[in-house]
Amino acid sequence: MLHTEPIVTLLARPAFTEPAHLPVRWLGESTDGERLAEFAGRLCYMSQANPADRGTREYLENIKRQAHGSVLEHANYSLLVEGVSRALTHELVRHRAGFAFSQLSQRYVDESEANFVVPPAIIGDAELEATWREQVESAQAAYVALVEALMARYSWVESRVHRRKMAREAARGVLPNSTETKIVVTANARAWRTMLELRAGEGADLEIRRLAVAILRVMQREAPALFSDFEIYVADDRREAARAGFHKV
Ligand SMILES: Cc1cc2nc3c(=O)[nH]c(=O)nc-3n(C[C@H](O)[C@H](O)[C@H](O)COP(=O)(O)OP(=O)(O)OC[C@H]3O[C@@H](n4cnc5c(N)ncnc54)[C@H](O)[C@@H]3O)c2cc1C
Repeated sequence: MLHTEPIVTLLARPAFTEPAHLPVRWLGESTDGERLAEFAGRLCYMSQANPADRGTREYLENIKRQAHGSVLEHANYSLLVEGVSRALTHELVRHRAGFAFSQLSQRYVDESEANFVVPPAIIGDAELEATWREQVESAQAAYVALVEALMARYSWVESRVHRRKMAREAARGVLPNSTETKIVVTANARAWRTMLELRAGEGADLEIRRLAVAILRVMQREAPALFSDFEIYVADDRREAARAGFHKV
């Protein structure tokens, strides 16, 4: 199977529980992640009475404006990302502060039937797609042959699980960067913002840029106040990109 779009599924979001002894005078609509960030921000100044009559979203807009982004670090969101290439995740996992990753292992998982991700710039051109597909299919055939040969070569290794691991970890060397992978990514809202600012920008690789825009859409639905300053637009290369209203809060 060939993927031409990433699949982003929200796995987890914050569940805010208000402490009875420090109630906040909430105003306006909000989600738990937004309330958690507001609660943390208000604790700094003990302003639970909300003297400025600010709704949660207005309050958080001000937090972003003042670059008081550490309060956004309390709200964590976990996403399941599928239909993306190993090339993409190699870039994604470079984001360190505030991130956690768990990715499909090519040492343990059989890639004989792996899917592949068509690079966005190739999609829609039959000739380019055919050249790319031919290479990908021959790489997969080489992988299958190598696994089989390595399993025979190491038949003396008693544990079948260990033998398979030895075979797969060596054979994966021929799999292309376009091999599809799956990854669970957890990050706090501030870390997501940094990643989105870098990866949804026009300078980013097209595939991770497309993923960043897809993630931004999910996050803008989940927690509008934490991501509302990002603007999605169509860039000169006719692909979507996004820019942050508040840089690196
Ligand atoms: C367009 C583009 C092209 C790129 N090209 C290349 C390339 O050719 N080669 C390559 O190797 N990488 C490349 N990268 C990856 C890039 O160098 C970063 O590794 C990646 O973008 C993660 O950024 P970050 O370190 O700012 O983010 P994070 O690791 O998420 O960190 C977020 C922020 O926390 C702070 N921080 C985190 N860790 C530290 C630390 N140890 N010390 C001090 N402050 C810290 C910094 O302010 C940092 O910006 C590219 C990235 C982009 C967007």
